[in-house]
Amino acid sequence: MKIAILGGGLAGTACAYIFKKHGLEPVIYEAGASLGPGASGNRVGLYNPRFTAEKGPEEEFYSGAFFAALEVFERLEGIAWNPCGALHLVNDEKKAKRFPQTVQNWGWGADAMRMVKAAEASEIAGITIEYDALYLSGSGTVSPRLLCEAYARGVEVHLNHPVENLSDIQADAIVLAGGMGLAHFPEAAHLPLRAVRGQVTYIEHSAETLKLRCTIGYGGYVTPVVEGIHCVGSTFQRWLDHSEIIGQDDLDNIMRLHAHVHAFRGLHTVEGQRAAVRTTAPDHFPVVGALNDMLDGGRKIYVSTAHGSHGILSSLRAAQYLAGLLSDQADYDFSEDLKAKLSPGRFKA
Ligand SMILES: Cc1cc2nc3c(=O)[nH]c(=O)nc-3n(C[C@H](O)[C@H](O)[C@H](O)COP(=O)(O)OP(=O)(O)OC[C@H]3O[C@@H](n4cnc5c(N)ncnc54)[C@H](O)[C@@H]3O)c2cc1C
Repeated sequence: MKIAILGGGLAGTACAYIFKKHGLEPVIYEAGASLGPGASGNRVGLYNPRFTAEKGPEEEFYSGAFFAALEVFERLEGIAWNPCGALHLVNDEKKAKRFPQTVQNWGWGADAMRMVKAAEASEIAGITIEYDALYLSGSGTVSPRLLCEAYARGVEVHLNHPVENLSDIQADAIVLAGGMGLAHFPEAAHLPLRAVRGQVTYIEHSAETLKLRCTIGYGGYVTPVVEGIHCVGSTFQRWLDHSEIIGQDDLDNIMRLHAHVHAFRGLHTVEGQRAAVRTTAPDHFPVVGALNDMLDGGRKIYVSTAHGSHGILSSLRAAQYLAGLLSDQADYDFSEDLKAKLSPGRFKA
């Protein structure tokens, strides 16, 4: 069964990878000159669940995504995977309340997720941390750009191939994984997708910050040194939808880092940056599943988008879900609540 995938970012290439494993024949059409030219093209990304206080569909989705990612990343070569652990600092009152509830309600067990005091956080990090933190031992970094390439290995890919009209595509089914590009298609135009621009900043390191062993989240985030730089992320601009570089964004990223991780104070030199546009839904949850509209000939159209700020994990879980819908071999067991929460049909009045 031939499946045309529109979009060669994480959402599209993850589908290709998982579909192939299910015996389907994926073909990727990407408008850009390479895979991952949009939101998925960063050198470094953090894979973390989107935390909720309660157990429920969000927890079900992101817990499943997290452990699925660990299995998949272990098998993929050349993705710069570093499961170095992640500290999420308790730097406001909301997190002080929410993070312990997450630990208790998600039930991962202390080996995988626990609260740590500032002294233990400092031992884990290798540098001084001033806050207590939520610690995820298996979290870490991966290169989204390299992940797209690895996912698409052995898959038919058409680059420089913007799809204008779905009726031009020869396939048994179609997956729309084009981020904000979905708005172009009448079949998906009703989805209330929103662009959120973001910029990451690559900065110099010092002898002290070279000791950083895990990622640190504090509203923004910083990674251990990768290829000579720390990656500092990232800005959120709901009112912008372009990927031009903004100098003030680098300053904002660096100032937020200095405010929360004091070992970085004094480091100002910017070594590079990258900006792109995230796609989100009003309820901050991915949009994944079948669209009701059928093409001529009864071909079904599926969608995987709105991966927001957690696309490394969510795109993979979305791909597993769609593979189950397309092949009748599901390697997941989603609750009805989760299926309804992901559904593109949820926005209908
Ligand atoms: C600054 C920044 C930092 C981030 N950091 C992290 C992080 O640390 N961890 C994390 O998990 N997530 C992070 N994210 C979010 C993550 O990158 C996204 O969720 C993810 O890349 C979305 O993947 P996607 O494939 O849906 O979108 P995209 O990567 O934007 O891919 C969509 C693709 O579709 C193509 N396309 C569109 N229309 C068409 C068409 N008509 N025909 C053919 N092709 C088309 C586009 O060219 C594009 O390549 C970050 C995002 C940004 C912007």
